[in-house]
Amino acid sequence: MTSNFIVADKFQEVKTSVTLLEAIERYGLNPIKKGSRYWALCPFHADKNPSMAIYDEAYHCYGCQAHGDVIDFTARYFNITPLEATKKLASDFGIRLEGSKPSKEAQRKIRQKQELDKLYKEYNKKFNEVYDYLCRLNQLYQKIKQAIETPEDMDIPEFVEACHMQDIVQYWLNVLLDGNIKEKIQVLKEVQEWKQRRK
Ligand SMILES: [Zn+2]
Repeated sequence: MTSNFIVADKFQEVKTSVTLLEAIERYGLNPIKKGSRYWALCPFHADKNPSMAIYDEAYHCYGCQAHGDVIDFTARYFNITPLEATKKLASDFGIRLEGSKPSKEAQRKIRQKQELDKLYKEYNKKFNEVYDYLCRLNQLYQKIKQAIETPEDMDIPEFVEACHMQDIVQYWLNVLLDGNIKEKIQVLKEVQEWKQRRK
């Protein structure tokens, strides 16, 4: 038995005992319910409208892309290590960590989470890249469309493309902002394919 297993087990125990919403409320944020979800002002960037969504097991800020679970949140919020955050949560919420036995199940969950985190990081990097690209494209199309002066201009291929593509680009941007994770990944693929075809 190594101490890593014990630490992993503590992480798991705290995560199953304290929900994100409970921790976020306790530490002074005031989440508000919109539809079926809670939202809070993001403490990790200068947020004017609540852009941090509180999911069951993760928070996600649509402003600065901050993302993580209850331990990540506490660690970042108080600028402490994940282990210190785990201990803080345990003490603030009255969870006894001593004497908990490391289980295979806890180890499996930790490994699963690490894999998910890795996937999410890769996805996030790509997401930002594509999102910025689409924003620039949208602005460019806007400028091209503003330059249209006479009906004859509409015969210029760049104008035709701008008119047609701006709708699609705006649709992609909307999905990247508001879609669920599956829809977003689909858009990333579509943009990739579209870029390939243009070359
Ligand atoms: Zn943020």
